[in-house]
Amino acid sequence: MSHITLLKTNELKATPQRLCVLEILENCGHATLEDIQEITKEKFPTLSLSTIYRNLNEMVEKGIVNEVKLTKKQHYEITKDKHLHLFCKECGKIEDFSFDTNSFTTKIEELGNCKVLNDVINLEIICKDCLSKKH
Ligand SMILES: [Zn+2]
Ligand SMILES: [Zn+2]
Repeated sequence: MSHITLLKTNELKATPQRLCVLEILENCGHATLEDIQEITKEKFPTLSLSTIYRNLNEMVEKGIVNEVKLTKKQHYEITKDKHLHLFCKECGKIEDFSFDTNSFTTKIEELGNCKVLNDVINLEIICKDCLSKKH
């Protein structure tokens, strides 16, 4: 689905600013507010951090964009299928890892007699590039 269609089906106007933000998230995978501003500077030099933030939040509310809470800084990504995040403590890279958490959460619900409400899983790792540098 194109970003224009994605916005329109969610009743948001396909403004150049929103399209620009979506394009950045598409290319970067995950980006912070500051990352986005840094990249938008060329195209939209006057676009303020608060405007980007407002646009992001509107898209988060519609479920187009997903907030990723990994580090102290909030990251954003275009909403995708369920996945885990692998965060490298050495180089700060964030990778998506396809994983179905259903069997895991079912087990926890059984063992703990509880209901899992949030099954977001983020793992801190040392990635293979950083590991190979150590040897
Ligand atoms: Zn790394
Ligand atoms: Zn992700």
